[in-house]
Amino acid sequence: MFKVNTNFLKLNESYLFSEIARKIEAFKASHPDADIIRMGIGDVTRPLAPAVVNALQKAVAEQADVATFKGYGPEQGYAFLREAVAENDYKKRGIDISPDEIFISDGAKSDTANITDILGNDNVVALTDPVYPVYLDSNIMAGRAGEKTASGAYSRIVYLPCTEANNFVPQLPQGKVDIIYLCYPNNPTGTTLDRQQLKVWVDYARCNGALIMFDSAYEAFITGDDVPHSIYEIKGAEEVAIEFRSYSKTAGFTGLRCGYTVVPKKLKAVDDNGNDVNLNRLWNRRQCTKFNGASYIAQRAAEAIYSPEGRKQINETIDYYLRNAKLLRDRLQNVGLKVWGGENAPYVWVKAPEGLSSWQFFDLLLNDYQIATTPGVGFGPAGEGYIRLTAFGSYENTLRAVERIKKLKP
Ligand SMILES: *Cc1c(COP(=O)(O)O)cnc(C)c1O
Repeated sequence: MFKVNTNFLKLNESYLFSEIARKIEAFKASHPDADIIRMGIGDVTRPLAPAVVNALQKAVAEQADVATFKGYGPEQGYAFLREAVAENDYKKRGIDISPDEIFISDGAKSDTANITDILGNDNVVALTDPVYPVYLDSNIMAGRAGEKTASGAYSRIVYLPCTEANNFVPQLPQGKVDIIYLCYPNNPTGTTLDRQQLKVWVDYARCNGALIMFDSAYEAFITGDDVPHSIYEIKGAEEVAIEFRSYSKTAGFTGLRCGYTVVPKKLKAVDDNGNDVNLNRLWNRRQCTKFNGASYIAQRAAEAIYSPEGRKQINETIDYYLRNAKLLRDRLQNVGLKVWGGENAPYVWVKAPEGLSSWQFFDLLLNDYQIATTPGVGFGPAGEGYIRLTAFGSYENTLRAVERIKKLKP
């Protein structure tokens, strides 16, 4: 009989979102008139910017005409978009990244997962805890996580807890690790690292021959001057870091799909004999074999966000979400809750009152206030005792939610 890839059998069942959905359905069944406000889902709700829609329509018209029709494009992405990214996301910030170091894709989820293809299986992986689950699950699938232990942690993964105790700043690992995933501004906690705090990790990677996977999907939400927009703002990072970006949260592309990954040419790994291997070349090879490029119309749409009107329009939407985040942050603090994030990110991370667990706080908010949230423990063991709220809803619903929570007695 043929066999499966048994690494997949080591995955944790993903109970989180199905369990949330089950609890909401059960509540609705017993309270048919309940008006539940959903503050749990990490998806945007505002429509695409007019400049993006115009670019889409123009690109569709091109596809409808034999003279301008486009079939397969370059696997790495069209030059017009790679050049716009290099110019606007890097050069304008004083960072030297060239178009051939930028790989356009259908989004950051696939890239953060697929990148494990080009890395050896004996690498030791470190993850912040709580974490965006894709980094862990993709390494379990690749056979790099070891075995699941009694506590639910994986034996070969190094967990970097981020909690109130360290103010959500991960501490350097005790031993040597090879691959480190950092996501800042962070999902789920909404917290950031400043330049000095990020430099600690770049220096660690340089001293220890480690690779940093830097996910900056929430870069567009940064408001503070001391928060780096790119890891390449830190000197020497181009020798140790891959950066992932996405138009999903930046410009509402969660349904349209487009993102990119930066693999600098200075980034080198070694083979079994200790010879240098260029990762840019390897990722290019991987993409050319397993990926046929992001769609032309999505890439034209992404290009449009770099136009002056596109930029202005997407910033308005980001400000809209940040206003929700500030409202959540301020009002929850007013009722005495401990709150993090929400200033450079669309997420607010809330400590459960009086020793309640994540799920107990989730149940309380659902049952007594009809507000659906995400239990922090679903993002990793160190998320226990917290919940995540998102600012991606409408302002009206966010306001209604905080009005209800006003009555909460922590
Ligand atoms: C939403 C999100 C992404 C973006 O994923 P896409 O596939 O580009 O939609 C990447 N990383 C994190 C941490 C996210 O929350």
